[in-house]
Amino acid sequence: MQHTISHELFSKAQQVIPGGVNSPVRAFKAVGGNPVFIKSAKGAYLHDEDGNQYIEFINSWGPMLLGHANPVIEEAVREAISSSLSFGAPTRREVEMAELIIDMVPSVEKVRMVNSGTEATMSAIRVARGYTGREKIIKFEGCYHGHGDSFLIAAGSGAVTLGVPDSPGVTKGVANDTLTAPYNDLAAVQMLVAANPNQIAAIIIEPVAGNMGLVLPKEGFLEGLRELCTREGIVLIFDEVMTGFRLARGGAQERLGVMPDMTTLGKIIGGGMPVGAYGGKREIMDCVAPAGPVYQAGTLSGNPVAMAAGLAMLRYLNTHPEVYTLLEQTSQTIVNDIRANCKALDLNLTINHIGSMFTVFFTDKPVVDFTTAKQSDLAAFGRYFQAMLHEGVYLAPSQFESLFVSTALAEPTLLQQVAQANKKALAAAFG
Ligand code: PMP
Repeated sequence: MQHTISHELFSKAQQVIPGGVNSPVRAFKAVGGNPVFIKSAKGAYLHDEDGNQYIEFINSWGPMLLGHANPVIEEAVREAISSSLSFGAPTRREVEMAELIIDMVPSVEKVRMVNSGTEATMSAIRVARGYTGREKIIKFEGCYHGHGDSFLIAAGSGAVTLGVPDSPGVTKGVANDTLTAPYNDLAAVQMLVAANPNQIAAIIIEPVAGNMGLVLPKEGFLEGLRELCTREGIVLIFDEVMTGFRLARGGAQERLGVMPDMTTLGKIIGGGMPVGAYGGKREIMDCVAPAGPVYQAGTLSGNPVAMAAGLAMLRYLNTHPEVYTLLEQTSQTIVNDIRANCKALDLNLTINHIGSMFTVFFTDKPVVDFTTAKQSDLAAFGRYFQAMLHEGVYLAPSQFESLFVSTALAEPTLLQQVAQANKKALAAAFG
C-alpha cells in the first residue's frame, strides 16, 4: 500500500497548519507513522489521495451512522443550498428540528442549536451555573467534553492521547472550578459534593464513556448520580454528543433509563455538518437569552444547510427503527469475530461493547475507568492499528477512542474481510 501523496501533503500541511492537522488525533501521533489524506468516501469505504480504499470504523468520529454520502442526507443538503447558505434569521427548519429532538430525546423539553459539541457543553455549564448561582462543576477522569477550558482537566480523547490532559492556556481559576472523580466511583462524587456544600452547579458525564476507549457505567452508578443531583440541587448533564441517536433513538438516557436535567448533543444531529445542541428541562432552558439572562449566541447557529442535513438524518432514524436492530446485529457480529480471533490466537484482551460502539483494549484486565484503560499495552495497539490500516481497515488512531459502526458495514463479505484483517493484525501486534 503506497502513501506517497499523503506523505507529500502531510509535509506541506506541517508547514502551514499546527501539526499538519485541524484536530490533534488525526495526526496519528499515538500510533506512529503519517496520517492518510482522505479524498472521498461512500458507504462503508474511505478512499485516500493515493487511491487506497479502507473499510471505515471512524465514520467522522460518529456522525456517519448511515455510512458516507448517504443519498437521503445528500438530497436534503442539495435542496437547501439552492435557497442560500445562511440567513442569520429564524427558519422553519429550526422549529422542526427542535420539535423532533424534543420528541426523540426523552428528557429534553427545550433545545438550542449551536455549531459543535464543544459549544454545546460550554454553553450547558454556563446555563447550569446561571440557573443554580453556583460555580464549581464535577467531571470524570477520562471523559472528554470538547476543548472548552473547564473540561481540559483530566480529559480523555486527543488530550490523553497526546499526554496533555491539563493544557497550558487554561487558567488556574478555571481549573479550580472543575473537580474530577474517577468514572464509576459514586463514593468519590459523594465526597466531593459533601466537601463543597452548595457549590456544585453541575455534574457532567458521558453516560457511556467513549473518550477513554469505551467504558460502560456500572449498574447503579448513573442512578446514584441522579439521586445525588436531585437531593443537592445539582444540574445533571449527560454529554450525549457521541451516544445521542446512536445507542438508541433517544440516546443513552433512553437505553439506560436514567434522565438528566440537561443533555448535550452533536455529531449525528448534524448528519456530518458542523452542528451541536444543548437542551433540557424547560425551567433551566428558559434561563437562556433572550428568554433569560444567561448569554449564548451564534452567527451560524441553526444554519439552514446544517439543519437540512440534521433533519434528514433524525427523520430517517425516527421512522426507521430497524436501523438500530441492524447496528446491534452488525456490531455483535464484529465483536464476536474479534473474540473468536483472540481465542484462536490464545490472546486475552478486554473488549468493551454496547450498541454500535466498541473498543478492543490491549489488556486482559477489566476496563472500568481511566486508570484501568491506561493499563493497555499502547505499543501493541500501535502495531495492531498499523497492521489493520495495511489490511485496508481504518480504525481510530488511538487506544483511547471508541470505534463507530455504521449501517453501511452490514454486508457479510465486508464483515468477513474485517474479521480476517483483525486476525492478521492481532497476530502482527503480538508477533
Ligand atoms: N463531548 C463528547 C462526548 C465528545 O465525544 C466530543 C467530541 N468527540 C465533544 C463533546 C466535542 O465535540 P466537537 O468535537 O464537535 O466540539
